[in-house]
Amino acid sequence: MAKKLPKTDVVIIGVGWAGGIIASELTKQGLSVVGLERGKERVTEDYYMAHDELRYALRYELMQDLSKETITFRGNEKIRALPMRQYGSFLLGEGVGGAGVHWNGQTYRFLPYDFEIRSMTEERYGKDKIPPGMMIQDWGITYDKLEPYFDKFEKMAGISGEVNPLAGKRSNEYPTPPMLHTPSMKMFVEAAKKLNLHPYTVPSANLSESYTNPDGISRAACQYCGYCERFGCEYGAKADPVVTVIPVAKKTGKFEIRTHSYVRRILHSGGKATGVMYTDMTTGEEIEQPADIVVSTGYVFNNTRLMLLSKIGKPYDPATGKGVIGKNYAYQVIKGNAVGFFDDQKFNLYAGAGSLGVCVDDYNGDNFDHSDLKFIHGGNIAHTFTGQRPIQNNPVPEDSPRWGKEFKANSLKYANSVLTIGSQGSSMPFRHHYLDLDPTYKDAFGDPLIRITFDFEEQDRELARYLSDRCGDIMKEMGTDRILKMKELGPYEITTYQSTHNTGGVIMGASPDTSAVNNYMQMWDMENLFVIGASAFPHNSGYNPTGTVGALAYRAAEGIVQYSKKGGLLV
Ligand SMILES: Cc1cc2nc3c(=O)[nH]c(=O)nc-3n(C[C@H](O)[C@H](O)[C@H](O)COP(=O)(O)OP(=O)(O)OC[C@H]3O[C@@H](n4cnc5c(N)ncnc54)[C@H](O)[C@@H]3O)c2cc1C
Ligand code: SF4
Repeated sequence: MAKKLPKTDVVIIGVGWAGGIIASELTKQGLSVVGLERGKERVTEDYYMAHDELRYALRYELMQDLSKETITFRGNEKIRALPMRQYGSFLLGEGVGGAGVHWNGQTYRFLPYDFEIRSMTEERYGKDKIPPGMMIQDWGITYDKLEPYFDKFEKMAGISGEVNPLAGKRSNEYPTPPMLHTPSMKMFVEAAKKLNLHPYTVPSANLSESYTNPDGISRAACQYCGYCERFGCEYGAKADPVVTVIPVAKKTGKFEIRTHSYVRRILHSGGKATGVMYTDMTTGEEIEQPADIVVSTGYVFNNTRLMLLSKIGKPYDPATGKGVIGKNYAYQVIKGNAVGFFDDQKFNLYAGAGSLGVCVDDYNGDNFDHSDLKFIHGGNIAHTFTGQRPIQNNPVPEDSPRWGKEFKANSLKYANSVLTIGSQGSSMPFRHHYLDLDPTYKDAFGDPLIRITFDFEEQDRELARYLSDRCGDIMKEMGTDRILKMKELGPYEITTYQSTHNTGGVIMGASPDTSAVNNYMQMWDMENLFVIGASAFPHNSGYNPTGTVGALAYRAAEGIVQYSKKGGLLV
């Protein structure tokens, strides 16, 4: 029998970016909030003098412990899924701040096209442009409606950037100026301009200068230390929930974080959530936390899994296309890139920052004509300068041996002379790509793991090839001595890192028939349950997701406050 605690106004499941934003916004409005986080407390002091590549980048100090819970994966419905025992394709966050602690900080806004993708594609190219099985749908909100929430997220995080000429309209400039440009970034900008493209500096949550945000939180400027992605920032210069929204929530006296608290079920009765059941990982005790409002912010996989385990909403059935929970899982097409080897130039690649870079959106969204192309959407193309750390940085030209004397000589020769231009190809949902509960494998408590069924489609192969060629065009213009380019995308494989940009499973939309949540992230089927994160994306764009996750979280917070006063469905 679980121990029952006194009721709170709101309980949050997982305290990353989404959970942290909800906590700060709701406590500012006087609501009492309990945040349940399965991982441990994290503070900036943890990272003082801790530039340890082995510990953080290769042994994943800040990530979820896969021996207790993981995902299972299969490429199609005919085969059995197997558990992911080691990290590869994506890295799952754990602990206060979630993956927001060890992200890079590249903070984009999705394009107006993303939010109305089906209508706009059909309008420009006709219905036949969308192949059978591709499940794109409008998001139930427009970019213009979401713009004030993007603005709020950027001001809170202090995003450093400059206006992207090919994106949606902005109500304000970025709160801080763009990051500095390295010589190779300048080469990219010049080359892109020669090709009549529209380069701009990657919008960055690594601060270009010291900044005080509207909540009165002050942070120092980035030191371009190069130990950013997969690491916490020892200066607090990288916006993360621990140095921005969580202290604001704590200061109200209305926010209690309970760490090592692993939520296993959302409890409900009579069509309403009544609270959650969690296990205290330090004692093994099962505890019930009653609440008026439940907010799930446990990332794509746990948001979906908790709905399925708690029997909330109708599970998606790929055979009929009916049901919504688990629907529209999407990922990204990251491998369309070009690597340039420069025989006589050195670029100081060991420095850098997680979001340092320059990019173009000429081949993203519907910014270019797709009439003669066999895919829709596109991807952001960027040259980033994130810091090449010594263990993982070993690039050699294609014709070089992979071992022995010649490999060593080439590895030394090019360690500081190789530039990459990469693309973040968008990912469209398909009918047979989805999340459900694995029938075989279970977590440490005996609950089924979440199962991914996913592979690349012809759309992805065409897109990757196209983006790879465009990356090559720019690299050539930059004057490289030789280029290594992706040739074929191949099947999706889960063993090499691509991006932690998984999306879908509890998607948003205009109707309960095709979506699980409305545009306030409120469950259609359970009005006092809000499910927030990239799980709400009906497809994935050609950008990193967190700017859009942040905007949706601010909108959800507004909705929850409204709901706490009046109740009822908000849409
Ligand atoms: C290496 C890396 C680099 C990245 N770089 C970028 C980038 O440059 N730009 C960008 O936009 N995005 C980037 N991302 C993605 C970004 O980190 C995520 O989009 C973002 O952190 C998601 O926030 P979230 O709050 O939705 O989820 P998370 O940050 O994953 O937080 C979820 C929290 O919930 C907790 N939780 C889950 N289930 C339970 C449960 N059952 N009970 C209790 N707690 C639970 C988890 O422990 C976690 O702390 C990167 C990710 C990684 C891993
Ligand atoms: S690169 Fe900048 S933001 Fe990133 S960890 Fe280093 S100092 Fe912090």
